[in-house]
Amino acid sequence: MKCSYCEALLVCKACNRPFRPRGPETLVAAYQPDMQVFCPECQELLVCKTCGFAYGEEEKDEES
Ligand SMILES: [Zn+2]
Ligand SMILES: [Zn+2]
Repeated sequence: MKCSYCEALLVCKACNRPFRPRGPETLVAAYQPDMQVFCPECQELLVCKTCGFAYGEEEKDEES
């Protein structure tokens, strides 16, 4: 699928693999600004490699 922000092919920044939604729920989530989307390949928060757009905020409350 394409990045909803820069419209380039959406490639996971963490593992350099193209993002392939597992199902319609994931695909819908990718276009909801409030929802986090995780890469099905590496389980990291999905970040577009091209533009750096993050699909959701990282939750790192324990880090100082
Ligand atoms: Zn992008
Ligand atoms: Zn990944």
